[in-house]
Amino acid sequence: MSPAAKTPAKASRPRPPTALKRRAEGVLSGLQAAYPDARTELEYQSPFELLIATVLSAQATDKSVNAATPALFAAYPDAQAMSAASVEAVEALIKSIGLYRNKAKNLVALSGLLLERHGGEVPNDFAAVVALPGAGRKTANVVLSNAYGMAAIAVDTHVGRLARRLGLSEQMNPDKVELDLQALFPQDSWIFLHHALILHGRRVCLARRPLCSSCTLLSLCPRLGVESSG
Ligand code: SF4
Repeated sequence: MSPAAKTPAKASRPRPPTALKRRAEGVLSGLQAAYPDARTELEYQSPFELLIATVLSAQATDKSVNAATPALFAAYPDAQAMSAASVEAVEALIKSIGLYRNKAKNLVALSGLLLERHGGEVPNDFAAVVALPGAGRKTANVVLSNAYGMAAIAVDTHVGRLARRLGLSEQMNPDKVELDLQALFPQDSWIFLHHALILHGRRVCLARRPLCSSCTLLSLCPRLGVESSG
């Protein structure tokens, strides 16, 4: 079993009203029925590969990341190999992914830091992962929840949009949305919730024209900010 990860401190927040709690319960059951096996769509074999794939996935699709990572991981299977790579060689392997120049620089630098500070392993520690180049709060949440089972809700563009449309958060700042969702959902549902909201955002609650008429959450969704839907 994975050792418990050090979790980020939770700010103390006022309790959400009962009606909102009930809506959250309904959202969770609806998502559990629709996406019982929700998990990350990034492909990886180790915490190191997951960290690299997650950094690459910023402002890029998981599909584009999964298309590039087999060759990248074959060339640089661990932090030691990637820290010794030239940035140009890494760029050549991830060229099909948005922001590849900056990402290549970050991958080489973060591998060097993993080697220097953590013996080449991805640390099971939120603050240590957040401190790596190219990694932020979202990356740390994705990596630590998937690799080490830390309870976390990583808020990306889909999770933020759905939280607002469903009336679960009014916040635009992802860190604040994360706190709102933490207050509404039981901790043992956080990892599932994150993956299920992403799947629902990709398949049904689309950014431009959500498919409300065929949405399993329609009866409990206030559809805040939705102007046109399918
Ligand atoms: S009802 Fe519409 S806005 Fe609400 S979650 Fe479903 S698709 Fe999104």
